[in-house]
Amino acid sequence: MSYEDDNFGEWEETWEEDGTKEFQRQVREESIEKKCSMCGNKVYLLPHYDKCDSCCRKLESGYQW
Ligand SMILES: [Zn+2]
Repeated sequence: MSYEDDNFGEWEETWEEDGTKEFQRQVREESIEKKCSMCGNKVYLLPHYDKCDSCCRKLESGYQW
């Protein structure tokens, strides 16, 4: 089972082995409803994030906007 998250994309169940489950829970609790600054989609992000995961991936792969 995996969980789709707007901050980091899809969580892998195997991540739970190294304490990620606690981190994942914390992220879910702290995430607030925001509008992605790139695509304008309504997403749940940590307060210091302003872009959704799919946009971050575009940036990482050299997307210019
Ligand atoms: Zn976006």
